[in-house]
Amino acid sequence: MSARLLLIGPPGAGKGTQAQRLSEALGVPAISTGDIFRMHLRNETELGLKARAFMDAGDNVPDTLTNDLVSDRLSQPDAAAGFLLDGYPRTIDQVRALDEFLATHGASMDAVVELVAEPDVVVERLKKRALDQGRADDDEAVVRHRLDIYAQQTAPLIGVYAERGLLAKVDGIGEIAEVTERIESALAARGILFTA
Ligand code: ADP
Repeated sequence: MSARLLLIGPPGAGKGTQAQRLSEALGVPAISTGDIFRMHLRNETELGLKARAFMDAGDNVPDTLTNDLVSDRLSQPDAAAGFLLDGYPRTIDQVRALDEFLATHGASMDAVVELVAEPDVVVERLKKRALDQGRADDDEAVVRHRLDIYAQQTAPLIGVYAERGLLAKVDGIGEIAEVTERIESALAARGILFTA
């Protein structure tokens, strides 16, 4: 079925992991702005070169760059029937850009899933990921900065989507499969069905 969803939550809440699982279950592409930016870094594209300093410091990449990237991606045919956004929107300006994109395409969001996780838990998770994957922005000081940026710039979006009646709050602590089930039942309660 078609579903337009987004996952919101602090770094380390498990958005990427859950997005992969939900995308398979729903048959819609998972679109992670962080993954797309990392691909640009690896390939040393012009966008990658522009984004690198922001990412390494744990700051948001500027909105104009990010909004253009997402509007290109959402214009691809595989996103026409639905998508699951992970890590976007992250600022009020990005919400505005997404609203505009959707309005232009006669579409709207179906639900916003907030993955809830305490800062202490996510810092521990990201320390582990730093060892496993070696992401430069998983260094502890950078992680703490990313959490600050989340609290200042992204957490306010939760209220915006709650006011629109789109918010489903889900506890992100627990086994991966258990968290997926929580999300699926929160979405099912909103009429978003899983066929797989
Ligand atoms: P996390 O959610 O764990 O912080 P991501 O993979 O989503 O990690 O993002 C990594 C980095 O990519 C961010 O710190 C930021 O620099 C950049 N980035 C990702 N998504 C966005 C976005 N929507 N707006 C601005 N910058 C972004």
